[in-house]
Parts: sequence; structure tokens; C-alpha cells
Amino acid sequence: MPAVIVGTVGMGDGPPRCVGVRGRAVWVLGGTTVQTVRGDAGSVERRLVAGRLRCPCGGVLAPWSYAVSRVVATSSGVWRLRPRRSRCVACRVTHVLLPTLLFSRRAYAGMVIWACVVARACGSKVASIAARARVPVSTVAGWLHRFGDRAPRLRQVLMGVLRGVDARVRRVVPAGSTLGDALTVLGAVTSAVRGRSSGLDTVTDQEMASHLTRGLLLAPSCDLKSINTNPFLVPAQIPS
Ligand SMILES: [Zn+2]
Repeated sequence: MPAVIVGTVGMGDGPPRCVGVRGRAVWVLGGTTVQTVRGDAGSVERRLVAGRLRCPCGGVLAPWSYAVSRVVATSSGVWRLRPRRSRCVACRVTHVLLPTLLFSRRAYAGMVIWACVVARACGSKVASIAARARVPVSTVAGWLHRFGDRAPRLRQVLMGVLRGVDARVRRVVPAGSTLGDALTVLGAVTSAVRGRSSGLDTVTDQEMASHLTRGLLLAPSCDLKSINTNPFLVPAQIPS
């Protein structure tokens, strides 16, 4: 049984607690990692049951109950969902399968948040962005503040990702702001990934941002050093 690498993926419910070692396996309790998945609940379920979803360790993910129900505000109403939980048959770590349309622990859908981020990068005022999105100004300001703080580092990390998915890239034209620069590089990553698989030809920048950060882009803690570059093309990302 392979050893578990604890802490290499985004934490959904706090850090895992190591409770012992049996053979080569590390057993953890009290924490669940987050893996992002595309597709609706039915698609996720089919892939999960068929053994097509993989753990970062390479093991097959098996069904393992459900995460807590949540209600997310979208631009057209509310989305009630209960993300699937899975468990790796190899390392036994459990993972919440978070839709890429969401960021972890945000009460608004990813596209609502993303529209605000893009508007800010285009120069709009926070108050007008919030009014247009029908989101409290303080909430929007919080998203933008956190994203803005992380934008320089995100851009730097994304440049490395971009070179990995498109070896032809030499430079990216500056957008004139740290936020804009980060979005520009992210857009280039998304474009490169779209071209690599027909199953990913509709992936959006917002989904890519959620996937790369394991949903934690706007979380209080987001370790960009462990950005999720590995499973770009694994079946977990391709709805069926
Ligand atoms: Zn595993």
C-alpha cells in the first residue's frame, strides 16, 4: 500500500490528523481533502462508480458517502447541492468532489465571483460591481482583496503552469495591473488546456482557477506552492 502524502492537496475541513502508521500507509482522520470535478452530479456518480476518478496518489476513488449539503447563490437563483465524498482504495484518504463551478466555502457560484474579478480587472469600481452582481459590497470587496493579494504570486505560478501545457510560450503581454496580469496568464493556460482534449474544450477560466487551487483560491489559506498542475487531463476533469 503506498504511503499517503499528507497535505499536498487543498484542505476542505481542516488539516488531516495523522493517527498512526500501518505498514507503509499513513492513516488520517479529522480532515478531508478537496478534488475538483467537472460535470453534473450524475456524471460524477457514473465516473466514480466506474472507477474513473483518481486520487492524487494514483489510486482509484470509490464512493464514500456525501459532504455537507450547501446552498449556493447563482446569477439565476440558488443551487442546492450535496457534493459527493470519495475514498481512495490505495491510500484511504477521503476527498470531497467539489464541482469546478464553485470555490470552496463560498456562498456564491464561481461565475458570480469571477464576473466581479473580471470587472475589477477592467477598471470597474467595487460598488458598481457589487450592485451589478447583486452581492453585498463588503463581500465583493473581500473577494477582490484576497484575489488581489494573491495575484502576483498566482501570476508567477501560472507562468510555470503555462510553460508546462504550452511549450511554445515565451512571454505574455502585460495587462497593466497585477490582477489583469494574473487573469491574462490564466486565460492562456485555459486556452492551452482546451486545445489538448475535446473533453476540455469548454473549460472556463473560472473552472481552471478552481481546479488549479483545489477550490481554495479565495480561502483564508491557499498554498500556491501546491497548485494542482498534475491532473489536467485525467478523466476526473472530463464530464461524460
Ligand atoms: Zn490515494
